[in-house]
Amino acid sequence: MGKVAIVMTGGTITMKIFDPAEGAFPMQDASDIIKVLNDTLGFENLVTHPFSMIPSPSMTLEKMQALKNFIDPLLADPEILGVVITHGTDALEETAFYLDLVHGSEKPVVITGAMKNASEIGYDGFNNLVSALYTAQDLNSQNKGVLVVMNYEIHAAWEVTKTHTLNLDTFKSLSFGPLGIIDGEHVIYYRLRNRWSYRFKNDFHSPVPLVTTYAGIAADMIDQFVDKPIKGIVIEAMGRGNVPPQLVDPIERLIARNIPVIVVSRVPSGRVYDTYGYPGGGKDLIKKGAIFGTDLTGLKARILLMIALGNKLPKSELQTVFTYQ
Ligand code: ASP
Repeated sequence: MGKVAIVMTGGTITMKIFDPAEGAFPMQDASDIIKVLNDTLGFENLVTHPFSMIPSPSMTLEKMQALKNFIDPLLADPEILGVVITHGTDALEETAFYLDLVHGSEKPVVITGAMKNASEIGYDGFNNLVSALYTAQDLNSQNKGVLVVMNYEIHAAWEVTKTHTLNLDTFKSLSFGPLGIIDGEHVIYYRLRNRWSYRFKNDFHSPVPLVTTYAGIAADMIDQFVDKPIKGIVIEAMGRGNVPPQLVDPIERLIARNIPVIVVSRVPSGRVYDTYGYPGGGKDLIKKGAIFGTDLTGLKARILLMIALGNKLPKSELQTVFTYQ
């Protein structure tokens, strides 16, 4: 079997409760987890690389950028078949998506985590790590970009989202389901996701705020950004991509300042579309220069916009990037 590199970033998968009054904390040394894999499961070819020991809320785009630079030499090593990254589950889909946008290798990067820490009964860390290792070693995982493996399922970074705060079966690709499963030692793919031809360089621009709309939202929730040095904004609109009418003027003011306004939906699955012509409806927003972000969640649309701006894409190409999926 080929070598797999395990890169540890932190998260519950590497946490334990040392003092019940204090809650779960990252272990400084996760070698006992790797030792179990080596001793009981015979994965002799594992190499571990500590990157960080942070929980998801401490993850930033700067750290994602550094993580990409960290895994590049590992992917370039001809002996290494793939890279497994352990990560907190709360921001896992954001890191997976960032890495997928800048992933240039045919080798797989597989991200996994755990919902229960190593002090809890039912710790799912071993299971997920083992599934991720099988996936990274499997030649069918090549040219599939960044994969998320949790609870015996393989998901595309583009599609996956955390859907439950507690369940082990929390990561779902809501529209189309997982790409495949891990059954025992077998990695079985059931469908393909067409990968983009865009491969971005590892650069991004910030800040790009994300605003969710809701009934009765004040115009100020968007207007507050008109005089701020933002690079772009993502709005999670309602339904097919419609915003309350009071947001139309502030959106126009942003567009007049050449700030890209990306519209996605606050609904967890499905595409936005310019169906409605009323003030704030999708057709109205597109006429005013907003860009629609198809079926991306707000979290992912924000990362795509930051990277596209960091790659200096002109506005005309931004439109193509957001509609071509
Ligand atoms: N709060 C933790 C984190 O994302 C949760 C987890 O890893 O499951 O770091």
